[in-house]
Amino acid sequence: MTLFDELEHIYQDALTRLAAVADSSALEAWYADALGRKGAVTLQTRAVGQLPKEERPAFGQRANEVKQALETAYAARAEAIKQEELLRDLEAGAVDVTLPGRPLAPGHLHLTTQSLRQLYSIFALMGFEVYEAPDVELEAYNFDLLNIPEYHPARDMWDTFWVKGLDAEARLLLRTHTSPGQMRVMRERCPEPIRVILPGKCYRYEQITARAEHQFYQLEGLAVGHTITLTDLIGTATQFARLFYGPDRQMRVRSSYFPFTEPSIEIDTTCTLCGGKGCRICKYTGWIEIAGAGMVHPVVLQNGGYDPAEWSGFAFGFGVERPSLTKYGVNDIRMFYGNDLRFLRQF
Ligand SMILES: [Zn+2]
Repeated sequence: MTLFDELEHIYQDALTRLAAVADSSALEAWYADALGRKGAVTLQTRAVGQLPKEERPAFGQRANEVKQALETAYAARAEAIKQEELLRDLEAGAVDVTLPGRPLAPGHLHLTTQSLRQLYSIFALMGFEVYEAPDVELEAYNFDLLNIPEYHPARDMWDTFWVKGLDAEARLLLRTHTSPGQMRVMRERCPEPIRVILPGKCYRYEQITARAEHQFYQLEGLAVGHTITLTDLIGTATQFARLFYGPDRQMRVRSSYFPFTEPSIEIDTTCTLCGGKGCRICKYTGWIEIAGAGMVHPVVLQNGGYDPAEWSGFAFGFGVERPSLTKYGVNDIRMFYGNDLRFLRQF
């Protein structure tokens, strides 16, 4: 076989193999095999030296034609393969636009926020406005001005988170109850009459158990005026209980003690679960406590700027999580701040 015949054979063979190439990686391999630096055509072209001088130009010309023809065939095949691969990709990644969409899971308000909003609207009906007071509070507002001096035994009722690094003259703490807001609103509004509710988070340095958290919401109420009596307090509490727990609620009042009210009472309503028959939630008494309350202590009124000879007032306070506990039968207060979606999604 002459070099010419070999060249033709290589050419035909390359064309046949090119027609069988099916993807771009096989195509690159084909190119290296045929036209690459060590490809068949290239090697064959280099063999031109073996020919007699007069045959060399004709061989060189034919070799160039073969190279050109194979380059052109390669370019055409490359374009075709590109289109095929694009089509394959489109088919593989096809989106069925007729399929129904996946539903988005919308968030909702936390159980505590829901309770707070319900409480706001009930007290708004009775003319109470919401008054916000700070979470970080002066010791004086949290204790002293509320008739709880340093030596007073009632301070043991609140284990306190103190805020470090401040001088003893103005010690700061995380409020242990919402009552310091009473002092703030009295000093701000004096000598106007007051009717406010004070919602907010409170903090106590205590062991976390199923019944006690170190943070919880309280809602405090304060009314100050010229003719306010204990009857107004009981009437307000009764109206609240009937709007919040249901119209058939019975009320009862027990005497109690808080340093900042005199007299002090605790307000109970018939159990929300058993309706008064007795159950585990109400410890078989038929009653649940809903609030601590009382007439604002004269010393506290005075500290707020009001003359106790002319002014009187009532105050009440309760935990916001507690009503949800009894209403929904939640038996562990830690669920409220555990951020377990299985719990939160139920409300
Ligand atoms: Zn009960």
